[in-house]
Amino acid sequence: MTDMRKYACPQCPASERILTSYPGLCRSCTTYSDDNEVVDPVHRAKCDEFGNPVKTIARDVGGPRRGYRQPKKLSKKQRAQISEEVEVPIITETLAGGEEE
Ligand SMILES: [Zn+2]
Repeated sequence: MTDMRKYACPQCPASERILTSYPGLCRSCTTYSDDNEVVDPVHRAKCDEFGNPVKTIARDVGGPRRGYRQPKKLSKKQRAQISEEVEVPIITETLAGGEEE
């Protein structure tokens, strides 16, 4: 599986968004002082190959699991939590045949 993960600044307009293959600070959005010190850092966020932000899924549902390998598959509990966060079109129409149950 090829990792096409890119990083781009989420605050830059899409037309000026610069894709990089490494995370870091956005030069145009990060505020620097006269002494060239970072005042207001703006980090690039994970994006897909088209520059669309990738939603980071929080896996630490059961608290910190430092030292443990992250499970590749999400548990049902985590899946349920994510499904609340991900925008899914809500179907309000009643299906033909009436309600289930
Ligand atoms: Zn930016």
